[in-house]
Amino acid sequence: QPQKVLVCGGAGYIGSHMVRALMRAGHLPVVFDNLSTGHLESIGQAEFVRGDLLDMQALRRVFGEYCFDAVMHFSAKSLVGESVVHPALYYTNNVTGTCNLLEAMRESGVGRLVFSSTAAVYGDPQAPVIAEDHPCLPVNPYGRSKLMVETMLADHAAAYGLRSVSLRYFNAAGADEDGGIGEAHSPETHLLPNVLLAALGRNDGLKIFGDDYTTPDGTCVRDYIHVTDLCSAHLAALEYMTLHAGAAVFNLGNGNGFSVREILDAACRVTGVDIPFTVEGRRAGDPPMLVADAARARTALGWTPVYTDIDRIIETAWRWHSDQRY
Ligand code: UDP
Repeated sequence: QPQKVLVCGGAGYIGSHMVRALMRAGHLPVVFDNLSTGHLESIGQAEFVRGDLLDMQALRRVFGEYCFDAVMHFSAKSLVGESVVHPALYYTNNVTGTCNLLEAMRESGVGRLVFSSTAAVYGDPQAPVIAEDHPCLPVNPYGRSKLMVETMLADHAAAYGLRSVSLRYFNAAGADEDGGIGEAHSPETHLLPNVLLAALGRNDGLKIFGDDYTTPDGTCVRDYIHVTDLCSAHLAALEYMTLHAGAAVFNLGNGNGFSVREILDAACRVTGVDIPFTVEGRRAGDPPMLVADAARARTALGWTPVYTDIDRIIETAWRWHSDQRY
């Protein structure tokens, strides 16, 4: 059954992959994006409305113009370091913006939402792998802003019957194999693009932020999940909401942790470049280790990640990065 889906933040890295996945699955995405960090050329033939979640009138207009079956919400500020320096930006964009979206949805009777949450809600977890019932004690404003939204969604489920699925992404990585879209932020802060830019000689080499963490090699460990696998989970979440009421929460990760040094080594293998790096001080707000137990998503959504090999994930990103004319 084709669904009309509002994709907030559809011009961004994960959102643009989602737009492509929705169209491939026969759904009808409409992108709502303020283009603050997104790229209009990345949404292909999808319908586009330029607007901001902080602009209630723009939201009411788009909900008045279309009849949506569901909303996917990728519009957020998402940099841990920036959130520590400028928390107001995070609470306004991520929390107030989502309040507005929920109000517009309620006014127009749209009752289904897939929300992009994050492993940052767990804070600095003590377990080697984290399941959804692990305590949520975020250690930075970014994680706190996302947890606030998850809390709102649970209350909206109880009071208004809103159906939602919050997907706690671990580290999104890679690019669609058909090409044309990938991960591009300005300035770039994420590990994998920065490693690949270093391989291309487009920055001053990789800066490793801290090698004195309590991890096997002293650098931070993360669980890298391919963006195409994130998208297949979102499609499954749309189906899930046709059967299930309430506010569900699922981790999305591969269950394997890789340290910053291991990612650097893998990138050297994939690119064939001896990538230059320096070790710098720690970045504020970074927990040492985040690795997912995604059994709940596998069972409840019938989801199976395809990209389980880190070299393969990096290869897809490299194909895109090495093809860019900067
Ligand atoms: N990192 C790094 N150098 C970079 C970018 C990131 O050492 O240029 C580290 C960062 O400190 C963290 C890990 O790589 O431990 C992943 O960071 P990223 O920003 O990609 O994702 P996050 O986990 O913050 O969402």
